[in-house]
Amino acid sequence: MTEQDVLAEVERLRLLVSQFTMPAQLTAEQRAGSACAWCGGKPGPATADLHAVGMTPRGCSDCYWARLNWITSWYDWQDHIAECEYCLGGSMCFVSHGRRTTHEQTITDAGQPELSCGSCTGPILRTEMAVPRRWDGDTAPYLGYIHLRCAARRRVR
Ligand SMILES: [Zn+2]
Ligand SMILES: [Zn+2]
Ligand SMILES: [Zn+2]
Repeated sequence: MTEQDVLAEVERLRLLVSQFTMPAQLTAEQRAGSACAWCGGKPGPATADLHAVGMTPRGCSDCYWARLNWITSWYDWQDHIAECEYCLGGSMCFVSHGRRTTHEQTITDAGQPELSCGSCTGPILRTEMAVPRRWDGDTAPYLGYIHLRCAARRRVR
């Protein structure tokens, strides 16, 4: 990886974090980048520049890394499912379960909601099988989840 590649990747991750985790309502200070977009504290020296149309929001490093962990663990889980024959066949898969657990452990620090199903809108219990799913949302796409049984029903339709 060249330095250019690294910078491009940092930029891509900032776009993802901005797109999927930035609060819908920001104060004037948060829109201007003088307060962290998530916790409202001083962004500090290790701040992350975020992306939003018409504003220059920033995040403190604690908030930013917590959200980055949430996003990367979501994609790790999804990437596994896309290429695992057990997961694609709807079978129990311990690797998928492990990736889900890793992702779930990032939720509290990242200030994200617990798992719920974008299809039936019910909660996803620990005992229920589920997979990550990107949803269109009312205003913007978001990273969510779906019960395995609901995903199977949608395929049949
Ligand atoms: Zn913060
Ligand atoms: Zn699997
Ligand atoms: Zn469901």
